[in-house]
Amino acid sequence: MDLTTLSETALQDVRGKRISHIFQNPQNGLNPVYTVGRQIGEAIRIHDHGDPEVPVQRQVVDLLDKTGIPEASARVDDYPHEFSGGMKQRVLIAMALACDPDLLIADEPTTALDVTIQGQILRLLEDLQAEHDMGIIFVTHDLGVVSEIADRVVVMYAGKVMETGTVEDIFRNPSHPYTRALMDCLPGRGGSMDRIEGSLPDVTDPPAGCRFSPRCEHATEACRSGDQPPLWGVDDGDTHEASCVYYDAEHDEGELADGEDATGGHQ
Ligand code: SF4
Repeated sequence: MDLTTLSETALQDVRGKRISHIFQNPQNGLNPVYTVGRQIGEAIRIHDHGDPEVPVQRQVVDLLDKTGIPEASARVDDYPHEFSGGMKQRVLIAMALACDPDLLIADEPTTALDVTIQGQILRLLEDLQAEHDMGIIFVTHDLGVVSEIADRVVVMYAGKVMETGTVEDIFRNPSHPYTRALMDCLPGRGGSMDRIEGSLPDVTDPPAGCRFSPRCEHATEACRSGDQPPLWGVDDGDTHEASCVYYDAEHDEGELADGEDATGGHQ
């Protein structure tokens, strides 16, 4: 379904009902002047969701209970400022699940939380994903979180897909120069953020060719013209692809070996 062509009315049927969203900062995702129960119940009322025989308040308490809010029936009429950061994120997850969506987009949902609470929220999302049989798109810059929660990974740079594969593909054999540089930045790998020199391009006026080319140590003239390279298969696998000219039919992937000028002219 092409969401960009839907009318506002048709979109209303998708938002919240089929696709829900959890934001990065739970503080900003809740309205401070309404109780959490009212805010969760609003989604149920607007979409006319749930069992009409069960009062909305009861459904809200069940949702809060499911997301691990202790004494949910006593907390349902509390205001957001009465909850900790982790508990606010649980409230937002309850709100996102109110209409039993097919897809949950979780945009950096654990970034504002400390590590212990982060682990609890990740476990909660995994449990709810299995229970509701829903897909989750988990947006994060934290590769540790990716390795813990993902089945499939899409590595994005400046709005374009650089590499995609199963979590094993990406962590066992990172193939795109950007993914490799990111992995090198991980603690214990001996690298640092200086490994990727320069800064992100302006996405409203991106460079021609591969968007990573101004920062790529393997870039050639061929990388700096035309469009972003297509996604080419890596290792003959049907799950692993990289958007890099070194994976087209004319190149040997071995040319990308780090620190070598094995490319016959490539830097
Ligand atoms: S296409 Fe060129 S610039 Fe882009 S990642 Fe590959 S080698 Fe680097």
